This record gives sequence, structure tokens and C-alpha cells, in this order.
Amino acid sequence: MLQSQLFGKTRKEAPADEVAKNAKLLIRAGYIDKLQSGVYTYLPLGFRVLKKIETIIREEMNAAGGQELLMPALHPKDNWQTTGRWDTMDDLYKVMDSSGRENALGPTHEEIVVPLAKQFISSYKDLPLSVYQIQNKFRMELRAKSGILRGREFIMKDLYSFHRDEADLARYYEIMKGVYKRVFERAGIGEVTHLTFASGGSFSKYSHEFQTVTPAGEDIIHVCTKCGVAINKEVVADQKGCPECGNEDLREEKAIEVGNIFELKTKYSAPFELTYKDEAGNDQPVIMGCYGIGLGRLLGTVVEVLGDEKGIVWPEAISPFQVHLIDLSGKNDAVKDEAKTLYETLEGAGVEVLFDDRDLRAGEKFADADLLGIGLRAVVSEKSLAAGGVELKRRTETEGKVVSKEEFLKMFAK
Ligand code: ATP
Ligand code: MG
Repeated sequence: MLQSQLFGKTRKEAPADEVAKNAKLLIRAGYIDKLQSGVYTYLPLGFRVLKKIETIIREEMNAAGGQELLMPALHPKDNWQTTGRWDTMDDLYKVMDSSGRENALGPTHEEIVVPLAKQFISSYKDLPLSVYQIQNKFRMELRAKSGILRGREFIMKDLYSFHRDEADLARYYEIMKGVYKRVFERAGIGEVTHLTFASGGSFSKYSHEFQTVTPAGEDIIHVCTKCGVAINKEVVADQKGCPECGNEDLREEKAIEVGNIFELKTKYSAPFELTYKDEAGNDQPVIMGCYGIGLGRLLGTVVEVLGDEKGIVWPEAISPFQVHLIDLSGKNDAVKDEAKTLYETLEGAGVEVLFDDRDLRAGEKFADADLLGIGLRAVVSEKSLAAGGVELKRRTETEGKVVSKEEFLKMFAK
């Protein structure tokens, strides 16, 4: 991709009303644009990162047997009345059309997936089962000050599992703990993301959140200094030591919930009378679990956790491009040709490369490269060619080093 052609440009200043680090950096770097409070566009750069996160999540959900589908965002009022949430959910967006018919904009999908599953689950032979989607959700968030960490429209992966009994739900729930751990590791925030015990509501003792430690976090968690498991004190105030290992030495941290998993049991299957016939032909309630991850929140969390004073720092796995190739030829046409040829060779080899072909000073190009945060910067200049090839610098390094073009290309050999 030629940077001169990129839809979205870097900016010196973030909008004055934007206070969150993630939004400031992502807007300044041209990854997102703010339409209104809590509502953002993903520009081509941001969209590339989002798609990489989506791929990681999709691969892990598929590996856990999840079947992907896509449910609507426009929900009939009836479904929400069946569970009572039409009246009890404060952040539900309600829309009325010109005929006076009311709908909800989906903030979550139990009200849709349960009646849907009812059409296909009739026997114990149909269980267990899990389905998921990656889809836009709508919530009237009161505090939409955290950039893409808390959107009013945001993208969520929501998976729903269906089981014949609580033992089978417990088995799958443990699998999902591992699946979630892998998602956050692959996205580059594994080390600062903690399995966190939270309130289970009225149906189970605990639910579990995945909380990432960052000053931008809106939650307070207590992290076990021994095993790394945490407790969300707001919801499980009576828990003394670590619920996993008993250690009483806990560290208080600010954190953001990047995902959560929940045993719903019969909370939603009961109102919709979702049942199955067991071996003896008796009707039994279907037992459910639900499992969410906010994709935009995950993206924003990475920016919060890894970003520095110069800009964004992407982990390799979700960097929008593998290489940021920078043409510093100035007025030297021979060097310009070298840079262009290298760009074409990389593209030809299937390397994802952003080529800074813009007519700007070195300082401006470097500042933009730091702001954009692509993991590897490769500079072609008179100086680099005289020293033997291309100057490479990782975003996390302060000093670059020159390697030959052959060596550089070999880094991407599959
Ligand atoms: P929070 O306590 O932060 O409001 P929640 O408990 O309402 O989160 P869930 O309903 O469990 O969240 O949603 C599942 C996941 O979706 C969350 O773990 C989070 O990653 C993401 N999420 C929830 N609300 C938002 C939002 N407003 N913007 C972006 N992501 C969100
Ligand atoms: Mg919420």
C-alpha cells in the first residue's frame, strides 16, 4: 500500500473533546474517526487491525467447536418482553418505526439465539452445541469517555453454548477459559490479562472476566501475587484470599474487562421454554453459557497498554502491516528507484508493506512511523545504501541496524 494514497491521514492534534489515550492516538494516526460520542469509523488502517483480531478470535472459536452465524441487530420488542429486559435494561436502544412498531437495537443476543436454537434443538442428541457471531452491538452507555473501550455501537464476538446438564456446561466452560487465554496471548496482552472472579449473578457463584491491567481501566481488581488470578472486588466483596490458590497477598490494579464468560444455566432457556428430550423421552431444560469479547475494546486496550509517548506500538500478530518501508531518497532518483523496487519485491513476495512514498522530510516521516506503530521500520536512503542496504528498526528499539537487501527479504521467506 502506498502511504500517499492511504485514506486517512495523520494529525498533529486529537479532537479537544477526546480524553482517552486510545482514541487520541488512533485518531491522530488515522486508524479511526469519531462520528459522535461512543461511535467510531474504522478507517483502512484500523480496519486491518480489526480484521487481524477477528481472525485470531474466529480461529480460536472454531477450534473450540463454535459454529459461526450472523444474527440481526434489529430485534422485535416481543423477544425482549419475554425475558423482561425490555423494561429492565437501562442501556437498551429502543426504536419506533413510522407504523408505530417498536424494536430494540441488539445490545446482546440471548433474546434472539434462544428462540432460534429452539427450532433446532429437540433431543439430547442435538447437544452440546455452540454458535457465535462477530457483530455490531448497541448500548446507550452513559460514560462514553473511554474512546473505543466503551462504544455506544461496538463490535462483539458473542458465543452461546447449549448443554444437557450443568456438568457438561462446566466442562465446556473450562475449555473456554483456555480459549480466551490464548486469544489474549495471541493479541499481545497475555502477560497483563488476568482471569478474574466476578459475581455470577443469581445463577452461579462466579462468572469470569478477563481483565487487562492498565491505568485506563474502569475496574479495580485484586491480583494474586502468586498465581496471577484476580478478583473483581466490586462484585465479590466477601472473597478474602485468592479463590484459586488461597494466597492472601493480593495487589490492587486498575483494569479493563476485555472479555467475560458466564454460566447462564436456565436464565434464558426457561422464559423461552427451550427444552430437549432425554433418553427416557422426558423434557429437560437446556443449560446455557455465554462468552463475549469486545473487538474494538481489545484493539483499544492494546493501544492503552503498549502505546508510548511517540505513538502506537503494535504486537506483530495484529500490526496493520508487517513492514513500514520508508523512502528517504530526497532528490536522489537512483535511491528512489531502489526503494520502489524493494517495495514491489516485497509486495510480490506477499509481504504486507506500507510504503511511505510521500514527499516529506525525514523527521516528519519518522514521527509518523512512530505514531502509526507498525512493528518494523525499514529505511532506504543514500546513507543506508552506502552502508550496505536497508536500515531496520523495530518500533520498540531506539537504534537501527543496516542489513543487506537479501537478508531483509529473507526475513519474510515462508
Ligand atoms: P462493562 O462492565 O465494561 O460495561 P459488560 O459486562 O457490560 O462490560 P458484556 O455485556 O459482558 O460487558 O459484553 C461482553 C464484552 O463486550 C465485554 O467483555 C467487553 O469486552 C465488550 N463490551 C461491552 N460493552 C462494551 C462497549 N460499550 N464498548 C466496547 N466493548 C464493550
Ligand atoms: Mg456494560
